[in-house]
Amino acid sequence: MKELSSILRRSGASQTAARSAPRPVLKSPREIELMRAAGRIVRQVLEEVRRHVRPGVSTGELNVVAEELIRQAGGEPLFRGQETTATKFPFPAALCVSVNDEVVHGIPGPRALKEGDIVSVDCGVRLRGYCGDSAETFAVGRVHPDVRRLLDTTQASLHLAIERMRPGMYWSEVAGAIQQYVESAGFSVVREFVGHGIGSQMHEEPKVPNFTDRKQRQQDFLLQPGLVLAVEPMVNSRRREVECRDPSGWTQVTRDGGWSAHFEHTVAITESGNDVLTDGR
Ligand code: MG
Ligand code: MG
Repeated sequence: MKELSSILRRSGASQTAARSAPRPVLKSPREIELMRAAGRIVRQVLEEVRRHVRPGVSTGELNVVAEELIRQAGGEPLFRGQETTATKFPFPAALCVSVNDEVVHGIPGPRALKEGDIVSVDCGVRLRGYCGDSAETFAVGRVHPDVRRLLDTTQASLHLAIERMRPGMYWSEVAGAIQQYVESAGFSVVREFVGHGIGSQMHEEPKVPNFTDRKQRQQDFLLQPGLVLAVEPMVNSRRREVECRDPSGWTQVTRDGGWSAHFEHTVAITESGNDVLTDGR
């Protein structure tokens, strides 16, 4: 065994990874159009939530706005009912709403937003069997300039990724660019949570990290037409470590209390580049 593994290592880590990594399912143009229709609802929800974000509004109220809009549009909220091995009960809402030092998977409830807070809103919708997934962090009223820079850097890191996504690129090239951009701004990239392939299921292969390391490079993949990815950098203002202090196992927070931002789009790779399916077009 030892000999075999050293031979495999000599023959190139990417070859062994290619053998073991599950193959992502490529989507047809028809499926991509169905995902765009789901993505349009997601975009409408995020725009409506943006209009409701202000001091005094509760995170639960934002969820009610989202849930109504999704149902009216004939969609199904993807997050409601999700279960993981680390959580005590199925996710109870349509939106994940994470405030300030909360990174992802915040459960909407009675918490009222305050002037100067930031609120990350993640929305997933299934329509006619296909999914869209997008997230955005909103400022509540006026925020500190350093907080503004955290939001702007995170959003710019997503756009920088999208600019690079085209057939023939390896994901590690994109992920490395995200990481370098974020870290050179003095912030850090969350490692415990990553983006994902998406299609008829919200979470499909491959995993889509926003950083590179040895393990990530072993699971690297080539971008090709028909691949659809949810790209979602989560950026912390200070150290990258996150933890869960929520007894339900859902809400993730930064370990050091720094604040965190999250931007996400569902992006299809096309013959000539890419097509963002959750930008409302
Ligand atoms: Mg999402
Ligand atoms: Mg996602």
